[in-house]
Amino acid sequence: MNSQAVSQGCNKILVVDDVVDNLQLLTNILQRKGYQVCCAESGKAALDAVQASKPDLILLDIAMPELDGYAVCQKIKENPATQDIPIIFISAVDEVPDKVRAFEVGGADYVTKPFNQKEMIARIKHQLNLQSARQEIQHLNLELEARVKRRTAELERTNKRLRNENRERRRAEKKLIFDTLHDELTQLPNRTLFMERVAQALSCTRRSPHYQFAVLFLDLDRFKIVNDSLGHAVGDRLLIEVAGKISACLGPQDTVARLGGDEFTVLLEDIQGGRDAVHMAERLQVAITQHFYLEGHRIVTSASIGIAMGGSHYQQLEAILRDADIAMYQAKARGRACYAMFDQDMYLKNLRLLRMESDLRQALERDEFVLHYQPIISLKTGRLAGFEALVRWQHPVDGLISPGEFIALSEDTGMIVPLGAWVLREACQQMRIWQDRYPAAAALRISVNLASKQLQEPGFSQRVDNILQETGLRGEDLRLELTESMLMERTEETIQVLQKLRDRNIQLSIDDFGTGYSSLSYLHRFPVTTLKIDRSFIGKMNHDTENFEIVRTVMTLAHTLSMEVVAEGVETLEQSSQLRDLGCEYGQGYFFSPPLDQEKASEFLVESMHWQVNVNGDGIESKSDVHPRSRRSKPLVHQPLHWHDLGEVS
Ligand code: C2E
Ligand code: MG
Ligand code: MG
Repeated sequence: MNSQAVSQGCNKILVVDDVVDNLQLLTNILQRKGYQVCCAESGKAALDAVQASKPDLILLDIAMPELDGYAVCQKIKENPATQDIPIIFISAVDEVPDKVRAFEVGGADYVTKPFNQKEMIARIKHQLNLQSARQEIQHLNLELEARVKRRTAELERTNKRLRNENRERRRAEKKLIFDTLHDELTQLPNRTLFMERVAQALSCTRRSPHYQFAVLFLDLDRFKIVNDSLGHAVGDRLLIEVAGKISACLGPQDTVARLGGDEFTVLLEDIQGGRDAVHMAERLQVAITQHFYLEGHRIVTSASIGIAMGGSHYQQLEAILRDADIAMYQAKARGRACYAMFDQDMYLKNLRLLRMESDLRQALERDEFVLHYQPIISLKTGRLAGFEALVRWQHPVDGLISPGEFIALSEDTGMIVPLGAWVLREACQQMRIWQDRYPAAAALRISVNLASKQLQEPGFSQRVDNILQETGLRGEDLRLELTESMLMERTEETIQVLQKLRDRNIQLSIDDFGTGYSSLSYLHRFPVTTLKIDRSFIGKMNHDTENFEIVRTVMTLAHTLSMEVVAEGVETLEQSSQLRDLGCEYGQGYFFSPPLDQEKASEFLVESMHWQVNVNGDGIESKSDVHPRSRRSKPLVHQPLHWHDLGEVS
């Protein structure tokens, strides 16, 4: 309601006076002006009238019997429902204290009698306008309050939504940060976070020289076999289990991270020295070397651990990790399931390996590889039965390097595929040359070592075909040597490739037999023709009855499966005789000859046409003992050769 809207006709005025004439007079005046009037002749009647119907304004006489105007005013003002009604006192008294009292008890105005009509109406209008303005303000206030309430509620809702959104965003940010710093599978820190922690540790050593830390590099042994044979799901479960075992060994200040694959790293902070790092490595070994039961499989695992002691001598972060990695490889080389502490020697060795790796890539183009040939002797006849081709690297600076130093590296780098192909071609060609040049060589066989990657190479048998065709060597004059582990990988595919080779009459031999993991009962599945017993069994055969039994058992097994046996590493006459007595078909070793370069091998071949090695020490060979492939019908009596002394022939 605004002040304009307050029309006089609407306004109700209560007139209170104990003098009826006064009431009448005022009523007339007011009604003429259009006000609605009601009257009360006493204070009490006035209060009743106010209760019954609330007037817009009260004209209140002061001097009244019983309740005077002040008391009435006070009562009305005490009641919250009526306290806002404007009250104009009308009194004949014109004293200041009375007027002051009138205002003190809540009066809005004071008019003295006799009053001027116009003034009275003006004052009434003024009070009504004031009242109306007050009401409007009150109304606006209420509206404002309601609006404020609404807006506050809205704001609260918006606030809540924003808070929720914020929380979500923070959670997403946190997850993103976590994800970028952690490994998804194990939830362990990843390389980035690990390197941050190593950087902190390094800066600690720079600030305080007594502060020591160590980095451990862990690699699970033979994890690939688990993954390949039991599937990635089991492999993943194993990694999670191992992550848990490692974490459980560490202190709160240490960090374990998964770098990827089966590689974990551990940062040991604030330690007393290398001893602490070694202790931790031992604890980790024990924790990891366990049986894990995963999805119905019992898995035994172990880890190789490399340790690098951190310190201010490291300028670059990555170098610490690299050194721990080098030490880990050293642990692997020492036979796995152990730890190795990094030292300067390892660093130099590794440098050499790196140099070798880059040199190796060029060695083939530069024609730096050569083949040596180690004779293989028939123990029955004492005659030369063939050669094993063994590769060497004629390094321009380091001289002749043995395959033990570079075959593993060339397998790791994939270089073995072209290198192996070169060896195969070269060996086949050499054998063909010998066969062409010397009739006695027609019965000889060349043995060539194969690496796993070669066998897995698509079209390998085709490559062998091509080489045989190009060199003109017959399939039966070639023997390929495989290792037991090669048979255990991708069994079905391997059998297929081997069968293709057998279809070409190529002989297949298992090299270093007895050192791998193959089960004997497994052997018959592979189309293998020959077993080469590892030299570790032959070497100790004399003074170790257990080894003698092993050799005998392998021999029986091979013969049951219609395989021939070659004994590797025959170094003495005694071994040679024992092997012959056991029925071993062939022998190879320093007793007969070390591997020879091509020229010396040719000489050996030529000489071999004129002798027969005394393999059983008695020097007497019967005609039936002559190797059936030998062109010579009559064996030659042994003549001692320069590379070993066979003793006197009786
Ligand atoms: P392997 O195939 O078992 O070759 C026999 C190794 O034993 C040769 O070592 C040979 O010199 C050595 N040896 C022969 N007789 C005796 C003996 O009486 N006593 C002792 N202690 N050792 C003897 P080498 O030439 O150093 O070759 C080492 C290994 O390198 C070979 O073992 C073979 O696994 C690998 N290798 C050699 N050439 C090739 C190749 O062309 N391709 C592949 N993939 N591997 C090769
Ligand atoms: Mg071999
Ligand atoms: Mg061998």
